[in-house]
Amino acid sequence: MESNRFETKVIHHGYEAAEHKGSLAAPLYQTSTFVFDSAEQGEARFGGMESGFIYSRLGNPTVNILEQKMALLEEGEAGLAFGSGMAAVSSVLISLTGAGDHILCSQGVYGCTFGLLNLLEEKYSITHGFSHMNNEETVRKGITPKTKVIYVETPINPTMQLIDLEMVSKVAKEYQIPVVVDNTFLSPYLQRPLTLGCDVVIHSATKYICGHGDVIAGIVVGKDEFIKKMALTTQKDIGGVMAPFDAWLLIRGLKTLPVRMERHCENALKIATSLKNHPSIKNVYYPGDPDHPQKEIVENQMKNGGGIISFELYGGKEEAQQFMNRLKLIKIAVSLGDAESLIQHPATMTHSPVPKEIREQMGISDSLLRLSVGLEHWEDVWDDLEAALNHK
Ligand SMILES: *Cc1c(COP(=O)(O)O)cnc(C)c1O
Repeated sequence: MESNRFETKVIHHGYEAAEHKGSLAAPLYQTSTFVFDSAEQGEARFGGMESGFIYSRLGNPTVNILEQKMALLEEGEAGLAFGSGMAAVSSVLISLTGAGDHILCSQGVYGCTFGLLNLLEEKYSITHGFSHMNNEETVRKGITPKTKVIYVETPINPTMQLIDLEMVSKVAKEYQIPVVVDNTFLSPYLQRPLTLGCDVVIHSATKYICGHGDVIAGIVVGKDEFIKKMALTTQKDIGGVMAPFDAWLLIRGLKTLPVRMERHCENALKIATSLKNHPSIKNVYYPGDPDHPQKEIVENQMKNGGGIISFELYGGKEEAQQFMNRLKLIKIAVSLGDAESLIQHPATMTHSPVPKEIREQMGISDSLLRLSVGLEHWEDVWDDLEAALNHK
């Protein structure tokens, strides 16, 4: 029975038990290399005349199952797994650009992506620019004759601003520039950029895809041709591959993605609403908020608001840090998408590599906090926040 419903697909598609001795769970092929029947078979595999495994940096059956599953879930042609989200980001950007090219980015990007952009600029003169991308005009204004990639995060980490992916990909098509989307914050359960006209999706699979805080991993989904080229170049030769055991954990985590995301969204909406009503909170940024200024984008391209909330207290860095130190249940940690609620201070943590002046342009003030709402009972999370807010 072929179902196209996400909840069924995520469990059943992309794996055939009959191909693995009937094993219900995908087996873990914990091996570095594969034995050839003969010297000739080795030659045929290397020459591409015969398909089959060679060496786990070039492909591994457990990793392949995950890649296949992610491609189906993102509705793309093929997937490619990496040892971290940043290995995925760097592999994609290096694949799509050459010396002297230009990358156009959303107004905010993950702190290490920002670091990578600077590295590419310093070493290879690959320049970049930022654009609000809030309408066609601002996208067009950011494009130069050298632009080879449009790189978008939505929601933007950590300001939670949204970008209309259909609009951006429509403009990009006029210029034949591929649109790459970092879909980490929502997962394919809540947003599928390839169905909106975008070309490549990247995940830090460390976050919601894993969901249990025990793996660092990245995944890219896109067209067959692009993925094949990357597999044979920026992945094979730079080498940021995923370990089979990590792929095994991610396949396991994926099965509960829809159930987890539903609870993350439910909890986050309740927490965001409670924060909004608290007098010690200056601003709350949550895409699922019914009063969100970009509600139309939420309705058009997202199934729900996700599990991440950013908010500002009154005061600056010191007040923000004191507040964090008063929390008991919520853990002070970067990363997101785990069962545990996690809080971090972007200005001194994830976005500390970004100079203060650019941070401010991105909307990251010293009092901004990012909360990844976990799977606990929401009232316990709120009680912890409320106690820390009410403390005098
Ligand atoms: C965490 C994160 C990354 C980097 O992923 P790693 O798995 O930590 O390398 C990239 N983009 C976003 C939006 C992230 O949250």
